[in-house]
Amino acid sequence: MSEYFHTEAFALKKQPWKDYGGLYVFYTKSMGKVHAVAQSSRKITSKLSAHLEPFGPTSLSLVRRNSWFRITSARRIRVFENMFSSGDALNSYAESLKIIDDMTRVGHPDLNLFSLLEEYFLALENFTGLHQSLKSIFILRLLSVLGYCPELNSCVQCKRATGATSAIFSFEKGGFLCRLCEKHGTGKELGEEEVVLLRETLRRSLYEVAMMRTEERVRMSFSDTVEKFREYQQA
Ligand SMILES: [Zn+2]
Repeated sequence: MSEYFHTEAFALKKQPWKDYGGLYVFYTKSMGKVHAVAQSSRKITSKLSAHLEPFGPTSLSLVRRNSWFRITSARRIRVFENMFSSGDALNSYAESLKIIDDMTRVGHPDLNLFSLLEEYFLALENFTGLHQSLKSIFILRLLSVLGYCPELNSCVQCKRATGATSAIFSFEKGGFLCRLCEKHGTGKELGEEEVVLLRETLRRSLYEVAMMRTEERVRMSFSDTVEKFREYQQA
């Protein structure tokens, strides 16, 4: 028996697959992560792929037979013109989608994750000079949506409140450590502005955080902190 589905989706990955036009991995609004094949007919495949690449968001119709999804139609909802503006821009999209693919399982729809992706694509389109910074803001929010929110208000170990002016971030423990608990010196010392940036990232929209006046050196240190934190969570 065939079941039909209609949903919005971002394409996370595409690879050639047997006699089919391609095997896609999507993050969909109503079904979470889904694997779906495009038909083998060359004509249909090329018509579909114009709407499936790159990335999305796409309005997608799927048919399921047993455990298989096949794409019956695809229509691009929005075109992001700045996506190809530079290698950096394209990398920001591609890397972020790869992280989602790596860190999610098939199924498990999450509206917060889908909305975050929409917000991120729009922000990348509108803040063309801020790709690196936006990517880090997005990754921290993504980790938080996926259940890996760092503790930024009290010591992860003894639960004592940490100060507002500086902090020590422990990648191993997943958040701030007070000076009493930080015995081995393995954490990273953060200044006040970076502490604020980290906290605001979890509190405000991507737009608002991108608009914050923050020195370049602080943004670079923030990106480094987020990247290391992600590596620990994905290890
Ligand atoms: Zn402590």
